[in-house]
Amino acid sequence: MEAHEVKWSYSSLKDYQNCPRQYQEIKVLKNYTKFPTAEMRYGTEVHKAVEDYVGEGKPLAPDYQRFAKQLQPLIEMEGTKHPELRMALGFDRKPSKWNDYWVRGIADLVVLNGDTAFIVDYKTGSSKYPDPKQLQLMALMVFSHYPEIIYVKAGLLFFPSEYRREDEEKLWGDFYPHLERLRLSYENGVWQENPTPLCGWCPVKRCQFHKER
Ligand code: SF4
Repeated sequence: MEAHEVKWSYSSLKDYQNCPRQYQEIKVLKNYTKFPTAEMRYGTEVHKAVEDYVGEGKPLAPDYQRFAKQLQPLIEMEGTKHPELRMALGFDRKPSKWNDYWVRGIADLVVLNGDTAFIVDYKTGSSKYPDPKQLQLMALMVFSHYPEIIYVKAGLLFFPSEYRREDEEKLWGDFYPHLERLRLSYENGVWQENPTPLCGWCPVKRCQFHKER
C-alpha cells in the first residue's frame, strides 16, 4: 500500500493514535460502531446554534444565550466569513474534491481578510487539555486553499494559536510520523492495543482489554 492510499482526517488520526486496535476494529474491519456520547451530541447542538448565529444572524436559543458575549467579537470581525468550511487536499497537498481526498476536515468558522485568516473552533468540551493540533491542520488546509493567505490566527474558542505560511513544512511534519505508523499498520496488519482507563467506554468487546463499566 502506498502512503497516499491512507485517507485521514484529524479525528481519524487521533483515533488511531489513541488505540490502533480500536481503529482497526471500527474503521477497517467495521466490526463495531462508535456511538456518539451525550457530550458529543451536546457539542453538535451547540455547533449548529453558534453556526446559525454567527454565520446567518439567527437568534441564539435561550439555552445558549450565555455564549452571546463570547461570540460578539466574531460577529464584528471584518472579512469574509465562511461558517462550516469544508476543505479537502489530495496527496500533493493541493485542494481536492471532498470525496476524492487524502485529508479533509471542516473548520467551524474561517474569516478571510486580506493576507490573514482567522480560524475558530467552537470547543464545547473541557478546556483543561486544549488540543490545538486540529487548528494546525485547518491552518495548513487554509494555506493550500487560499494562496493569498500568509498568516493564520486560530483559536479553540479562547486558546489562541498563530501559524505562518513560511512554517508550512515544519507544521506538516508534526502529522507525518503518525501517518507513517498508520500506513505501516495497513501494510503489515499490525494494530497494537493501547489499554487505558477509557477501555470501559470502548465498543470493541472482543478485545482482551475490554471491560464492562
Ligand atoms: S478495549 Fe482498550 S485496548 Fe482494546 S481496542 Fe478498546 S481501547 Fe483498545
